[in-house]
Amino acid sequence: MVIRLKNAEEIIVKCHVCGGRLEPTISDLPFCLGPTSIVVIKKLPVLECTNCTEFSIEDPVMEKVENLLEQTGEAAELEVIAYAA
Ligand SMILES: [Zn+2]
Repeated sequence: MVIRLKNAEEIIVKCHVCGGRLEPTISDLPFCLGPTSIVVIKKLPVLECTNCTEFSIEDPVMEKVENLLEQTGEAAELEVIAYAA
């Protein structure tokens, strides 16, 4: 079944896996920069599914994450940085 959203103002806050409700939370997430390089970003605001383990990152947050990852580089095998609002 395909659900079409006619109202553009309708904000999708449903899990793309199970359709459960997504709720904002603060989490520490690892990001792989390369085969041997992992960056952990702490205190990241994400949307987490209340029904399964899926989570989603909003676009403005993802942009900031990409900036942080660019500054980090791939030299470190494991780096832990904090997401600052
Ligand atoms: Zn889910």
